Amino acid sequence: MPRPTKYVFVTGGVTSSLGKGILAASLAKLLQLRGYSVTIQKLDPYLNIDPGTLNPYEHGECYVTDDGAETDLDLGHYERFLNVPTSQANNVTTGKIYETVIRKERMGEYGGKTVQVIPHITDEIKRNFTLISEEQHCDVLISEIGGTVGDIESLPYLEALRQFRYDYGEAHCLVIHLTLVPYLKAAGELKTKPTQHSVKSLLQSGIQPDILVCRSEHKLPQDVRTKIARFCNVAVDSVIENINAPSIYDVPFLLAKEQLDMVVMRRLRLNAKNDLDFSYWKNFSTALKNPSDEVTIGLVGKYVELHDAYLSISESLSISGPGNDVKVNIEWIHSEDITQENVKRVLSHLDGILVAPGFGYRGFEGKINAVRYAREQNIPFLGICLGMQAAVIEFGRNVLNLEDCNSTEFKEDAENPVISLMEEQKDVTQLGGTMRLGAYACKLSKGSRLEEIYGATQIEERHRHRYEFNNAFKEAFKEAGMLPTGINPKNKLVETVEIKGHRFFIGTQFHPEYKCTVEKPHPLFGAFVKSAHSYKLEKEKVKA
Ligand code: GLN
Repeated sequence: MPRPTKYVFVTGGVTSSLGKGILAASLAKLLQLRGYSVTIQKLDPYLNIDPGTLNPYEHGECYVTDDGAETDLDLGHYERFLNVPTSQANNVTTGKIYETVIRKERMGEYGGKTVQVIPHITDEIKRNFTLISEEQHCDVLISEIGGTVGDIESLPYLEALRQFRYDYGEAHCLVIHLTLVPYLKAAGELKTKPTQHSVKSLLQSGIQPDILVCRSEHKLPQDVRTKIARFCNVAVDSVIENINAPSIYDVPFLLAKEQLDMVVMRRLRLNAKNDLDFSYWKNFSTALKNPSDEVTIGLVGKYVELHDAYLSISESLSISGPGNDVKVNIEWIHSEDITQENVKRVLSHLDGILVAPGFGYRGFEGKINAVRYAREQNIPFLGICLGMQAAVIEFGRNVLNLEDCNSTEFKEDAENPVISLMEEQKDVTQLGGTMRLGAYACKLSKGSRLEEIYGATQIEERHRHRYEFNNAFKEAFKEAGMLPTGINPKNKLVETVEIKGHRFFIGTQFHPEYKCTVEKPHPLFGAFVKSAHSYKLEKEKVKA
């Protein structure tokens, strides 16, 4: 019996990086505005169990959910667009699929059968297609199949999808294929052949897409739409233009103009419950594009060559622009390039400095130099996770004058380990999934800057780290003016620090960037951008 949930699959063709995640998130937004509950899941064809052990240079940032899953960065887009939290179940990898099948085999659950990709792996994939909708009872589940059609890794997913569609029928299971329609300058033409080939490749797996979303730098004229429709066996109104947008947050409007939501609902036999009410998003997008002023924040990290490595942070910063009527420019600063000699030249023009999370020693001393400059020059500063740890170490070294002051992550036998491993981490030998992960409560001190910013004393934020502020140093730091203002009520760990008397100097052991959405911008990023703007205005006044 088909279930009441409707299933939409998004596949990708021609090249990677066409924006399947943004397409899935935008369609989900449209259906949500139409009155349906929607969930999105990402199916990643790699063999890692999760991206937690991946170097950020591989696939960009690792996003963390409330329930402590280390997931693909697309889940960040889903949350920012939908304003609904995701969970462990929203990210499936081939590693997880194989792990389950192999575990079952070891338990003898296959009754002596030969365990094979078909049917055992494909059955497990199909079970995962519906698992989340059973848990979350959503009206529509959008599943994004990672990778590009034609990849060897994606084949079991496509076979599972072919079977699933056969079982559920086209009124309950819809396939959207995202392709590229490139413009050849020399010919002065949009080219449809790559799209035709990628649909052919899907057909080889037995899947006829229902809707083609065509990523393009130019508008798709009617004759190109007709040609794509005819050669790819789809209705003309199901050829959807997906033109490059000024901001990813404009994609839902552009797809609505193309009536993607209407085509999807018609095919899934769903009626629109609501008119599309874009008022909030329109205001946000207009403010994003027409700011009265701008600020420049230096994002100091060691993976800055790949901006995706800090995706949630950069999105949180730009989402915080409209609320302050400014555009937030990010200057990407490689922490390895900041020395004591050049720090002034590299950072003095900035309106705010954000020291990013990270792992390992490479580039760490540059982060220390950046913190010191922000602290001494009274420049708005936000340190996240390793950024907070750098702030603590810098303060220990240069204000408390502690000799050999470090994190035990970098120097196990440091004389003054102001950041050290949590007790429960000391016996951990496995890398994957063993950090302090997910949402933890934090109590903010009355009268602290953070209490004022959050407008609350009880907050909950997401974590991803092994090392912590060493409580043996708490009193010394407090006395010298670095205040531990956020404490975990259960284990008394320090979750935030602030410097008294500084314009804005905040470090958080947690990651506020995982909880900043378009409809609910994060107060901490908002306050940081606001402080950066006031600082900029002050500098301008002094100059004038
Ligand atoms: N490397 C540090 C730790 O494990 C910080 C981690 C982070 O910035 N996410 O505690």
